[in-house]
Amino acid sequence: MLELAPNRRAAMSSTGANSDGTAGGEPPVVVLGGGVSGLVAADILAQAGQQVVILEPYDRLGGNQRSLNIGPYTFDIGSFIFFAGSPFFRRFPGAEAVCHPAQIAVDRVTPQGRISRYPFSIVDDLVRRGPIEIALTFLSLGYGRVRHRRPVSAGSFARYHLGERLFAQSGLRAYIQRLCGIPADEVDYRFAEKRMNWIAQAVSVGPLTNRLRRFGKAPVAGPAVLVRPRDGFERLFDQVGAQLRAGGVQIHLGSTLQKIEAQGGGFVVTTSRGVFAASRIISSLPLTVTADACGIETGEQIRSLPLLSLFVAFTGDLGFKSEVLYNFSDIGSWKRLTVHSRIYGRADDRDYLSVEVPLALGPSDANAEFTAFLAFMEDHGLMTGEAELVGHELTDFAYPTYAHGSIDASEALIDQIEQTGVEMLGRQGRFDYIPTASKATQLVAERLAQVPIDPVRRP
Ligand SMILES: Cc1cc2nc3c(=O)[nH]c(=O)nc-3n(C[C@H](O)[C@H](O)[C@H](O)COP(=O)(O)OP(=O)(O)OC[C@H]3O[C@@H](n4cnc5c(N)ncnc54)[C@H](O)[C@@H]3O)c2cc1C
Repeated sequence: MLELAPNRRAAMSSTGANSDGTAGGEPPVVVLGGGVSGLVAADILAQAGQQVVILEPYDRLGGNQRSLNIGPYTFDIGSFIFFAGSPFFRRFPGAEAVCHPAQIAVDRVTPQGRISRYPFSIVDDLVRRGPIEIALTFLSLGYGRVRHRRPVSAGSFARYHLGERLFAQSGLRAYIQRLCGIPADEVDYRFAEKRMNWIAQAVSVGPLTNRLRRFGKAPVAGPAVLVRPRDGFERLFDQVGAQLRAGGVQIHLGSTLQKIEAQGGGFVVTTSRGVFAASRIISSLPLTVTADACGIETGEQIRSLPLLSLFVAFTGDLGFKSEVLYNFSDIGSWKRLTVHSRIYGRADDRDYLSVEVPLALGPSDANAEFTAFLAFMEDHGLMTGEAELVGHELTDFAYPTYAHGSIDASEALIDQIEQTGVEMLGRQGRFDYIPTASKATQLVAERLAQVPIDPVRRP
């Protein structure tokens, strides 16, 4: 196991194996991972005058923000929506400049098989259901407020704020199980605090009154929605890479992490593409991957849910109008679909869409999932025509699974790694369900602000 590094920024001996061209001087700060968090960390450190090297395992930057080009179609592994002027784009304006403004409508399939607004609709989930259902919903809410006043899980959090009836009938209960891979009652309460606080806000008196007051009026304009370039994320992250390189950051793609060792007050990082000396290591790679490289054992409790993305080309009628559709019904393993052709235009005279299937029950066959998805869509009148599965992709670290005990286990593991001097950040590094690039950017800035940066001047 990697020993404690008492002064991780002490200069390493220049005889330390160092393939990055900085031998002889202070070794650079090594940032492991070139996803949003690693890129932001590199930018902050480079701007503070540090020598920075990014080591990214894949042949591209962007981490889980990833597109695949298949024939005339460009798919993403999931749905990606950004906002003009977000913290990530403020840091990398070239990336914002290659994005497109878009109108994205987001709907859900309800357990009753209807298409309704995501995530809730006062009209569909309450008003339209009639006076008896409204009365029962309020009774169930009252009961939930008493019974779950000290919520212990995502399930009890939702019951406290919505009541069991609305929780189940809106489809939120089924959706959480699909997203987390376990029933909502087995999902740690802290997941609810991170990802479900919008429920608490939506049903609190102030916002609810505002929504009712604004009912039927035009929505208040927010920042413009942006989407990645038509030909994929690569162009967006090329801009980010170019800005960082211009600021002196070295980027090594295809560098799979193998080992991290303490040496002479600093570190030696061994990758598939060479050995690097480091004065400081900041890892945004998956927690278990970093732990393995440090020789630290990881338990079974820290588990990420893999995501299977199905890439579908389609000719015919889609029985819904939105660009993004969530599955809030009680059946089917698909979670969300994104109709790229409604955003970027049809290709080859066909629509094309990505369908996200979290693999809660372990590996699954793409063709079998596609058949099940098509059956769902046909049964619900949502797809009538010819659909073809043109490709699929597996993302192994898609969603941290917050079963009871997993957050404590991940915090303990982060502590153990950080005691060696390796710092952890990001959605993967901190096993943290960070929902957006904006939030990832903000959290990295906050975390790095906690550690004073040595005032090293670049030559
Ligand atoms: C399906 C999906 C849809 C999303 N939609 C949006 C959206 O609409 N808008 C938005 O702003 N955010 C969205 N997000 C969240 C966004 O992707 C994250 O907030 C952001 O990518 C976090 O960046 P990160 O660098 O912390 O982590 P990541 O990008 O997840 O990865 C960090 C690093 O881990 C590495 N890594 C990954 N897997 C492995 C592995 N097996 N072995 C070794 N290294 C690995 C990556 O290469 C990368 O270097 C979505 C996420 C997913 C999964």
